[in-house]
Amino acid sequence: MNEKYRMLPAVGKLLQHPTIKEWQKEYPLSKISQAAAKLIDEMRDRIAELLPEEFEQEAVLNKLKANLDNELEPNLKRVINATGVVLHTNLGRALLSEDAVNMVAQVARSYNNLELNLDTGKRGSRYSHVEELICELTGAEAALVVNNNASAVLLVLRELGSGGEVIVSRGELVEIGGSFRVSEVMKESKAQLVEVGTTNKTHLYDYEDHVTEHTKLLMKVHTSNYRIVGFTKSVESEELVSLGRKTDIPVYEDLGSGMLYDLKSIGVGDEPTVQEVVKAGVDVVSFSGDKLLGGPQAGIIVGRKKYIDRIKKNQLNRALRVDKFTVAALQATLLHYVKEEYTKIPTLRMIMGTEDSMLEKANLLAEQIKAVSNSIEVEVQPGFSQIGGGALPLEQMPTYVVALSFADTTIARAVELMREASYPIMPRVSKEQILLDVRTIADEEFSEVVISIKEIIEKTTTREV
Ligand SMILES: *Cc1c(COP(=O)(O)O)cnc(C)c1O
Repeated sequence: MNEKYRMLPAVGKLLQHPTIKEWQKEYPLSKISQAAAKLIDEMRDRIAELLPEEFEQEAVLNKLKANLDNELEPNLKRVINATGVVLHTNLGRALLSEDAVNMVAQVARSYNNLELNLDTGKRGSRYSHVEELICELTGAEAALVVNNNASAVLLVLRELGSGGEVIVSRGELVEIGGSFRVSEVMKESKAQLVEVGTTNKTHLYDYEDHVTEHTKLLMKVHTSNYRIVGFTKSVESEELVSLGRKTDIPVYEDLGSGMLYDLKSIGVGDEPTVQEVVKAGVDVVSFSGDKLLGGPQAGIIVGRKKYIDRIKKNQLNRALRVDKFTVAALQATLLHYVKEEYTKIPTLRMIMGTEDSMLEKANLLAEQIKAVSNSIEVEVQPGFSQIGGGALPLEQMPTYVVALSFADTTIARAVELMREASYPIMPRVSKEQILLDVRTIADEEFSEVVISIKEIIEKTTTREV
């Protein structure tokens, strides 16, 4: 054992190796030295299990380089989404269109007129670049954009509900991902929540019976991520609007996803579009930018000018303001809607993908995988994709998946190896197989999927057998 301790390299000596000079072109010496000390500490801790060759200078240097590369590469990485869940919150939700990506890159690289009116030379508003487009698309009088829909809800409640009562149906007291609860946001905004109705049924008279002189807002929340089915009743936006008009109380609807393109028209879901909700007369409507809209993370608030103007002036609005990347990406996305270029928006393109085109894609991917190894079973099967992102939870879109069975490893291990591969893959898992849903895999990613699978096959058939 003592002899093994003597074989441990000294940090100082290691750092004198000529190759370290080379590395300094890439990494600062302080970082190399820190990583070397850490590596030698680790070797000391595991000394009993180390093989003699692991003490050789070359081996130590190789390990050190690998550790440095690993530590200093960005750990926010691309992941291939093979789950078939189009809006996967863990995987970053909506993908941006090419135009949106280019706009973001452009404002990142260059100065721009974010807050400059190029006609007058005077200070402009960062929101002007998107507000008009939002109004045009939704039919609303006015619009405002904030950091995300959660902050939109907080801001609206703070301005229109604080110090008074806000009536909400018990069936709509949603909790969404990241433990965002309507009831908790209500507390944060200093509004008093008045729950009416029951879990499965709420009638208009439930709201009516609870209107008092303290009522400041009638709120409707879209039950994005769940559905109550069976013996149910909820109050339609129109009905709530009629009560709002009668009592002179504004109506606010948190739409959650916020759809601008009517998916009902292609047989997907039963959600109202933002336009429909605005048309129903709802005074204030809020929704996300990166769910069904297919843009950047943002919270969009639309509605009557008199309320939007008040919300804009709330101090909290400044704290929730969006940055130039959001403005750039949102503008590019909204322009696709104005120009009716729906398939340029990746979220919509993936949702619109037909069963036939999925079959064609799945066959292509299966062929490419089969070509690299015959030690893996590859089969194309029908399946279902989901929209995700807490939108349309019951919607099942027919798709095709490439089902893989690795010969010499468990499903759990194969899934782990998929995450660790050069191009990490998040698959769907069934009882006995790993499923790659082609709906959410871009054609350009096929070759990467193949490389990663090849790696996994090599690992499982050589080292682990
Ligand atoms: C998703 C969602 C939110 C939060 O939106 P983010 O943009 O994720 O902050 C709020 N309310 C409902 C009903 C939602 O579905």
